[in-house]
Amino acid sequence: MNINAKTKVCGLIGYPIGHTMSPVIHNYLAAKYGHNLVYVPLQVETGKLEAAVKGADAYNFLGMNVTVPYKAEVLNYLTAIDPLAESIGAVNTLVRTEGGYKGYNTDMPGLYRAMLSDGIEIEDREVIILGAGGVARAVAILLLQKKAKKIHIMNRTIEKARMIADEINQKAGKDICTAYELEGYKKLDKSCKYLAVQATNVGMYPETDKAVIEDMEFYQMIEYGYDLIYNPAQTKFMQCVKNAGGKSFNGLKMLLYQGIIAYELWNNISTTEETALEVYEKLKKELA
Ligand code: NAP
Repeated sequence: MNINAKTKVCGLIGYPIGHTMSPVIHNYLAAKYGHNLVYVPLQVETGKLEAAVKGADAYNFLGMNVTVPYKAEVLNYLTAIDPLAESIGAVNTLVRTEGGYKGYNTDMPGLYRAMLSDGIEIEDREVIILGAGGVARAVAILLLQKKAKKIHIMNRTIEKARMIADEINQKAGKDICTAYELEGYKKLDKSCKYLAVQATNVGMYPETDKAVIEDMEFYQMIEYGYDLIYNPAQTKFMQCVKNAGGKSFNGLKMLLYQGIIAYELWNNISTTEETALEVYEKLKKELA
């Protein structure tokens, strides 16, 4: 591409960001649409986030993605926050506005679009979430918004699962979310076929031979198993879901769509499913 004085700059801020795949998404879309835009990883060291956001503003950067560990802290340095990002308490996309950046969360709409693309519906479904970290909490909020019938949240540290369940039930105005320890699946109705969202770190590269639950009794209840991990592309959790006869998916499409939605916000465009799938193929090659 021809970089010149009119080139718009977008970037990713986080620490560390050595293995990011986001440039693949955004630079592919810029080339595809003929946008004079470049996307670069911008590592921000501890204690320098405020300076980084102010600097991006001063340089007139069009937009930023924000990743670990800054998704909550960045809320302090924005001029506006989208309501969904506010309810989740995490921002992964900054969009330039008059006087500063507005923060959005495209991770959860990204996961939702990924599920739609994979033919999974949330409405009226019983869903199990494994994990109770930052992403699990956001998934629970998404499931509530998209009218899941019941949410069963299981975590090694049950107190964290309880905090999320209490918050969800308060937001729902009724008891739709229950917290369990990891063995809690033994208490569930075995005749029901569940969607399970794997939102722990267990099974991530390099510890690829582990799943957070390894008992096949659990997997026999799972119709769809959605692992938010994408490296490796086939996790042990996914393998167990398949072995028990269910359908499994990794987190690469969530990564894809969170990026696509960010690009759409920066450039005020809509991306077709066909273009999204082109980027997806590119990501899969990059990962392999
Ligand atoms: P987090 O806040 O650190 O939470 C980690 C969760 O994993 C906690 O529930 C923790 O349980 C559990 N856990 C960790 N080690 C465990 C072990 N040995 N045994 C049992 N449970 C264990 O992490 P996060 O930010 O929510 O991220 C969660 C996952 O989402 C990660 O795998 C990340 O790669 C993935 N993710 C994917 C995308 C995407 O675009 N696809 C985007 C963001 C995140 P305790 O509470 O008991 O410690």
